Amino acid sequence: MNGNDEYSSAPPPSDLDPGSSSQPSRMYVHESGWQISIKRGSDRVFCHLMEPEQDYYHRLVDGEIYLHQADDRICLSCAVRRGIIATEPRRLRDDAPVFLPDSGEPPIPVPGVDD
Ligand SMILES: [Zn+2]
Repeated sequence: MNGNDEYSSAPPPSDLDPGSSSQPSRMYVHESGWQISIKRGSDRVFCHLMEPEQDYYHRLVDGEIYLHQADDRICLSCAVRRGIIATEPRRLRDDAPVFLPDSGEPPIPVPGVDD
């Protein structure tokens, strides 16, 4: 019984591993509207963007993680290059809530109170 221990032989992932500290391990999409999916199957699906040295749309392959919005599909490589995926979380001070001007009307009518 030694055929299924491929996972147990690897050391557990550690956030304290100094060897991985230089690699960003978390990614953020600050632009709204994007969804994440995993390409499944062999149907022909192409990244919406081109690599700088290429003049064709490259194909997304089975198992590849990609972003999509409407009919646009973008591989992670292109998303990082375009800045859609960031490795830094959005700063809280840049994400202050926007208060809409008071329209003078209550947002939700409450029966018995707003009569
Ligand atoms: Zn791409």
